[in-house]
Amino acid sequence: MKMLHNVLEFFKNLPAKNCSECGQQMDEQHECYGNKCDKCMGISEL
Ligand SMILES: [Zn+2]
Repeated sequence: MKMLHNVLEFFKNLPAKNCSECGQQMDEQHECYGNKCDKCMGISEL
């Protein structure tokens, strides 16, 4: 099962998603908002 282990390691080592505005690290669950964090998404509406 060495291949499976390598795949898991690959996903574990994926770089964290960061906000394109402030660079803050975002959770995967915010992916639907695009590439900005909640804070910047709110500010961008002003
Ligand atoms: Zn942000």
